[in-house]
Amino acid sequence: MKYDIIIVGAGISGATLAERYARVLNRKVLVVEKRDHIGGNCYDYYDKAGLLVPKYGPHFFHTNDKTVWNYVSKFTEWIPYQHRVLSFVDGLLVPIPVNINTVNILFGTNIKNAQEMKKWLKENTEKIKEPKNSEEVALTRVGKILYEKMFKNYTKKQWDMWPEDLDASVMSRIPVRMNFDDRYFTDTYQAMPKSGYTKIFENMLNHKNIKVLLNTDFFKIANKIKTYKKLFYTGPIDKFFNYKYGKLQYRSLKFKTQTLRMKFFQSRAQINYPNEYDFTRITEPKHATGQQSDWTTIIKESPTWDGEPYYPVPSRQNKIIYKKYEIDAFKLNDKNIFFIGRLANYKYINMDQAFRNALDLFNNLAKD
Ligand code: FAD
Ligand code: UDP
Repeated sequence: MKYDIIIVGAGISGATLAERYARVLNRKVLVVEKRDHIGGNCYDYYDKAGLLVPKYGPHFFHTNDKTVWNYVSKFTEWIPYQHRVLSFVDGLLVPIPVNINTVNILFGTNIKNAQEMKKWLKENTEKIKEPKNSEEVALTRVGKILYEKMFKNYTKKQWDMWPEDLDASVMSRIPVRMNFDDRYFTDTYQAMPKSGYTKIFENMLNHKNIKVLLNTDFFKIANKIKTYKKLFYTGPIDKFFNYKYGKLQYRSLKFKTQTLRMKFFQSRAQINYPNEYDFTRITEPKHATGQQSDWTTIIKESPTWDGEPYYPVPSRQNKIIYKKYEIDAFKLNDKNIFFIGRLANYKYINMDQAFRNALDLFNNLAKD
């Protein structure tokens, strides 16, 4: 069978493009996926206890993008869920992002409103006009004491780099609240897919025009793929170019998953451990999935350089190398080869942005 569209990777980026080309333009699509499952890093499965387990760490869906929300909602029903995270600091559990309660609990203050919180921050933060790195972002937003207690060591563990060597964008992901709002995200749409993420991908890819080849590394079959109208690549960009400008760094995680005979292990879906241990956080997905069971699953995440590439590392050196690959990738657009997704664009993006980028690319190219 001949295919119009070849897609490397069955994660959000690949599945979205496959779905759009098959359903909207009636194209024949081949998706090549090296893992033994679809869904990319969002993949989840039911374990022996009937609990939904995310293989690559829990994913919490949140977006302000109505187009994305409407698009994903075609493939799933939702369970409302607002993510709340605690951080274990000085033996205490405090809310993160930093809000009034974080300061009150840690410093025994009695801040009651936004005005008092602003005053506290003004007295405790530093003034840096244009923060150049993640340390400067933290110092301007929360100040030195909170930075050292909640962010400095967590970031070193997560990235194996001190925040001063990391792009400002990393720490900019975490806001600071002038109120008591302890939600991790404030987006309009926040929810978990009722039957898990994998079901979303099954629904997206279930089309007569889409063929998915699992357990297949694209580079092992690339010489057999001769004709196509467009090829979309969602794997690591440096691998595509055989590392000709050098290797880009990707941070990975080791997940230690345990199923325990107890209703709940901890009080929230996520507790962060910035200082004491070599893991960064313990997550307990049951808080988010709303499943009823006498069992629960917990996942400890320990950052590492070995293993699957999860996080592009936004350092100065990686930016320089990526720029070179980006130029080569752009030139291949003339040959109908396109690079899309967290690994191919070498960018730390959330699920909603991955959907949005793939939808935008489809809409732009569909006009050709
Ligand atoms: P991927 O999901 O990485 O898909 C790429 C696919 O390509 C993979 O399946 C891979 O196996 C395949 N592939 C690569 N190379 C080849 C090859 N040579 N041949 C064939 N196939 C290949 N976002 C949120 O919004 N909320 C969250 O709570 C959240 N939590 C996260 C937690 C973790 C631990 C991580 C790592 C990410 C999290 N994200 C979260 C981000 C989210 O996972 C990504 O935005 C999203 O998965 C990106 O989709 P993608 O299609 O670009 O990439
Ligand atoms: N971070 C931190 N302390 C925390 C949580 C986050 O220092 O308790 C920093 C860390 O550098 C992390 C970044 O903020 O990589 C972004 O955090 P987020 O929770 O968005 O990370 P992700 O869920 O993407 O791993």
